[in-house]
Amino acid sequence: MLPQVIIIGRPNVGKSTLFNRLVGKRLALVDDQPGVTRDRRFGDAHLLGLDFTIVDTAGWEDDEAETLPGRMRQQTEAALATADVALFVVDARAGLTPLDEEIGQWLRASPVPVVLLANKAEGRAGEGGLLEAYALGLGDPIAVSAEHGEGMGDLFEALLPHL
Ligand code: GDP
Ligand code: MG
Repeated sequence: MLPQVIIIGRPNVGKSTLFNRLVGKRLALVDDQPGVTRDRRFGDAHLLGLDFTIVDTAGWEDDEAETLPGRMRQQTEAALATADVALFVVDARAGLTPLDEEIGQWLRASPVPVVLLANKAEGRAGEGGLLEAYALGLGDPIAVSAEHGEGMGDLFEALLPHL
């Protein structure tokens, strides 16, 4: 069985775009509207020399008030339990939100290793959000652009010790 990598983050940070980037096919639906992805999606991911199963989650979507709905959180918790590593995606352009902090707190309490990704980091618009992400207490954030394929070598290096 391949190692499993789960993508976690609030709506609209680019989880499904990252999933598509790693799977290489447009299996997950991407949309400007939050909440398009339902449930979990599994894909065969390839990143340089690494092969793993990637899981796209939507556990924090359908959540207009940005609070943790118990049932959705439970679903993500179940998915996290079988994962070897979690990719926690934040939006480097938008900066951190209270929901990012809440998910970060939740992941810090989890035994699963976390790789923190500051997505949408292409160009200079993501520099502030990248710096903010250090405050999550989940190690050094990796600047990536799922849309443009930037930072994939750094992601590879961060995943390598965990897979
Ligand atoms: P999800 O809700 O976390 O699954 O986010 P999506 O993958 O659906 O992406 C939400 C929006 O962010 C879409 O409009 C994407 O095109 C956009 N997006 C995703 N990755 C990037 C990126 O690296 N850079 C920029 N500028 N936009 C991105
Ligand atoms: Mg999605």
